[in-house]
Amino acid sequence: MLPDAETLYAALVARDDRFAGLAFVCVKTTAIYCRFGCPARTPLRRNVTFLATTAECEAAGFRACKRCRPEEVRPSSLSREAVPSLLHSPSLTP
Ligand SMILES: [Zn+2]
Repeated sequence: MLPDAETLYAALVARDDRFAGLAFVCVKTTAIYCRFGCPARTPLRRNVTFLATTAECEAAGFRACKRCRPEEVRPSSLSREAVPSLLHSPSLTP
């Protein structure tokens, strides 16, 4: 279960890599998916969708970003456990 898209997009804008391995950012305009913390320019909200695994991204027709190498991120039990506290982190609260 992913956090909601607005939370994920806020983390994307902040280049918050605590979400790396938990969810991936698929950019519809470029057909590329990134991990959180990617140094590439942040895409517009309407152009991104979030998926939980690289396999889902690939199945949806996206290719791995060559800058952030999302396919090399391993799912981290640490980041999954950290989500409830991240969701209440002041930096992500509007
Ligand atoms: Zn990237």
